[in-house]
Amino acid sequence: MKKFQDYEEEIYKCSRCGLCQSVCPVYKATLNECAVSKGKFTILNGILKGDLAFTQKVKSYLDLCTGCNACKNFCPSDIDARDILIAAKNEFYKTCQVNFIYRIISSYFVFKKLLVCVGVFTFLYRLLGIDKLVNNLSFLFSRIPFLGRYILLYNSLVFSGHSKPSVFCSERDSYNNLKTAIFFEGCFNKYINPQTEDSVFKILSDAGIKLMKKNFECCGISFLSDGNFDEFKKIIAINLSKIDSDYNYILTDCASCNSVLKMYKDFSSDKRAADLSAKTISVLDLIHNFKFVANNDFKLAVHVPCHETFDLTNFVKNIANATFIDVEDSSACCGFSGTFAIKNSEISRKISKSKAQKYYDSGVDFVITTCPACVLGLEQGFLDIESKNNTARPKVINLFNFLAGYCSIKNIDL
Ligand code: SF4
Ligand code: SF4
Repeated sequence: MKKFQDYEEEIYKCSRCGLCQSVCPVYKATLNECAVSKGKFTILNGILKGDLAFTQKVKSYLDLCTGCNACKNFCPSDIDARDILIAAKNEFYKTCQVNFIYRIISSYFVFKKLLVCVGVFTFLYRLLGIDKLVNNLSFLFSRIPFLGRYILLYNSLVFSGHSKPSVFCSERDSYNNLKTAIFFEGCFNKYINPQTEDSVFKILSDAGIKLMKKNFECCGISFLSDGNFDEFKKIIAINLSKIDSDYNYILTDCASCNSVLKMYKDFSSDKRAADLSAKTISVLDLIHNFKFVANNDFKLAVHVPCHETFDLTNFVKNIANATFIDVEDSSACCGFSGTFAIKNSEISRKISKSKAQKYYDSGVDFVITTCPACVLGLEQGFLDIESKNNTARPKVINLFNFLAGYCSIKNIDL
C-alpha cells in the first residue's frame, strides 16, 4: 500500500473542475464542498505544502466520504479518491497525537468484544422469537419515536425471512471434480444472521465443490476504510493463521469482504496473503452458469454495492420467470458504508432515503443486493419513507437468500 506522500502527484492532478460534485452522494446531501473529493484534495494539498496539519478537524472532513469511488469514475484526471483518503487517514494516525481512549475504542480488541456481545444478544433475541414478534408488530414499532426505528433496523438484519434450507450440507463427503473452497463467512454471517451462509451452502450443495469453514474473523473493512492499518494488519495475521490446508478458492458471499480479501496481499509480506488474495472469488463466479427460475413473476430490481465487481445486474436479469425493472441509480451508494453511518448519521439517512424512494416509486417486489451493509442502508431509507406512507414497500434481500428462498435451479453447469 502506498504512503500518503506517494500520492502527491495524483493530488496535484486535481484541476478543481468540480465534476465530482455531480456524482458525490455526500456532496449532494450536504452541499458542503469539503465533503467532495475536490474539497478534500484542496485540504490535502495544503498539508503537503506545509500550510495545514493533520488534526481531528481534518480527519472529520476525510471521514465525510462513503468510499463509493463514484468520483473516480467521473473524474477527467482519473484520480482514485478512495485510496488517497485511506492513505491520508493512515497518515493522521501516524502523525497526530491520537488520545489513548480513541485508540482503545478503535482497536480490534474492542471491536471483537463488541461483536461477541452482539452475537450473544442476537442469539438470545432469536431464540426467544423476538425477531418474529417485532416483524409482526412492525407497524407498532414504527410509531415509537427514535428507539422504534433502531429496533426495526436491527430486526431487519436478524429476522430470517424463510426457514433454514432443508438441503443443508456443511461438508460433503463425495466429490466429483474435487475442487476445494474455503468459505469466508464474514462477521455478519458469523455473529448476526447465518441465513445468507445457509443459502449459499444450499445452492452449492450439488455443485461438486468441497466446502470448508475455518472460523475466520471479520475481513477488517472498517479498519482499512479508517486508515487504521496497524489494526487491519492484526486481522490479516489472525485470518491467515486459520488456514491449515490446501484449497482452490476462498469463497465469499459479500461484495465488501471479497474486495478487502483481495487487498491482503498489499498489506502483508506473508506469502499466504498473496495466495489468499489470488484465490478469492465470489460465490457468483461459481454459479453464474446456473439457471435460476423464480417461483413467481416477481418484479426485481438490484442495488449494486460500491465494492461489487461481478455483473450483478445482468445476473438478476437472467433469472427466469421474473421481471427485471431497471431503477435509476441502481449502482449509486446506499449511504450506509459501515462507520460512516455511525459518524455521520443524518447525512447517511438522507442518502439512503433518496435512494430508497426510487425503489419505492418503481413498485418492485424485491431489491436484491450482495452486501449486508447495503441491506441496512436501504432498510434505513425505507424506514424513513414508511413513517409517512402506508403502502407496501419492496423487500430488501440478499441475492443468495432470494435464490435459495424464492427460486429453483433448473440446470447446473459449472
Ligand atoms: S472531478 Fe477530478 S479533477 Fe475535477 S475537481 Fe473532482 S477530483 Fe478534481
Ligand atoms: S468516494 Fe464517493 S463519497 Fe467519497 S468523495 Fe468520492 S464520490 Fe464522494
